[in-house]
Amino acid sequence: MRPELEGDFIAVVNAGSSSIKLSMYSLHGDAMGAVAGDLTGGLAGDAPLRLDLHAQIDGLGSAPHFDARHADGSPAGTRDWPVGSLPYERALDHLVNFVEQEFPRIELLGVGHRVVHGGARFDQPVRVDAEVLAALDALVPLAPLHQPHNLTPIRRAFEALPGVPQVACFDTAFHRTQSIEHEIFALPYALYQQGIRRYGFHGLSYEYIASRLPAVSPRLAQGRVVVLHLGNGVSACALHQGRSVSTSMGFTALDGLPMGTRCGALDPGVLLYLMDRDGLDARALERLLYQQSGLLGLSGVSNDMRQLLASDAPRARLAIDVFVHRISHEIGALAADLGGLEGLVFTAGIGEHAASIRRQVLDRCAWLGLVPDEDVDPAARGERRLSAARSRVDAWVIPTDEELMVARHTYALLAGGT
Ligand code: ADP
Repeated sequence: MRPELEGDFIAVVNAGSSSIKLSMYSLHGDAMGAVAGDLTGGLAGDAPLRLDLHAQIDGLGSAPHFDARHADGSPAGTRDWPVGSLPYERALDHLVNFVEQEFPRIELLGVGHRVVHGGARFDQPVRVDAEVLAALDALVPLAPLHQPHNLTPIRRAFEALPGVPQVACFDTAFHRTQSIEHEIFALPYALYQQGIRRYGFHGLSYEYIASRLPAVSPRLAQGRVVVLHLGNGVSACALHQGRSVSTSMGFTALDGLPMGTRCGALDPGVLLYLMDRDGLDARALERLLYQQSGLLGLSGVSNDMRQLLASDAPRARLAIDVFVHRISHEIGALAADLGGLEGLVFTAGIGEHAASIRRQVLDRCAWLGLVPDEDVDPAARGERRLSAARSRVDAWVIPTDEELMVARHTYALLAGGT
């Protein structure tokens, strides 16, 4: 039997369309007394937050599967449901009940939620009340596939956990340091005023990476860095002194680099042509651009990089070649935005694990003076350097942790008493 846990906890909810993840962090030392706000430096190395449990239900809408693990990776629970038999709300209830059983004696200080869109208004995390929730609801049309799923757990938590603060942390907020030249489209200015602008996404991931840079490399913390977030969603971000200068995703999480099933940047003339030629409406275009394109559309094999790397199909090779080409193209654009480059960081599923993709990207950065270290163990884990000592540009893998970033923000906001 594990000893029953007591003390102060923060829960983090990361809810998507097909999965809900819940992480429980305990607070240690003088956590609530520590200076809140300095998330980039002060809490980076020794944040007083410790992950104690991670639970998730995936396969929602197909074959739902629940899996919970303690921080050491040991199993805490597992369950399967018949195909299509677990509505979203019941999945949430299952997670809440599980945590209540697992942690009957803890004090839940707050719940942090990853929310994809904060629009132009929310440039930092916010404690959610009815007015904020209405404002976040109004942003649903900007992220119709993600935002509703992010808001459902907040509503449910208001009912199930009255009095427990709910904090929304946004994927867009980190990019609000960008200049107007980067944010604005060359459309009539009135559209910018109406909110049709580049917001950028994956901000919690980039913020986490920025928070690690002082410990990883003071040169990069002070310098110009391109971070490549290569997961199912894929984007890149230019950081200068840890702040976002520009990023590949724009108004929606569709722009920029090709992804598992999303196309990335596209000449908008293609859309006009397809609307005229095939009579495609908005929903049909949405399916094409979000679900049938990217690695899946190119390869006809899979949206999953592991399967493409294992495949002999010529179009799987083509999909990988396009992926690498577009990443190297984006690195050039972001390096130009920064006026030079000291560092390149890989993160998320492909960035952390696909050594051959990383190597192809590094080889295309030779013109920047990047020299790969030939002795790097391709199976290594954790934070690690990929570039040789004589390389002008340093290359690193830094595993991302968006949930920890949400926990830090939630803690900081509550400690700050706002
Ligand atoms: P999400 O954006 O949903 O959080 P992840 O960051 O987990 O996704 O990234 C998923 C991607 O990472 C998939 O394309 C998957 O194939 C790829 N990936 C995960 N592990 C490996 C690996 N060992 N080798 C190659 N690709 C991998």
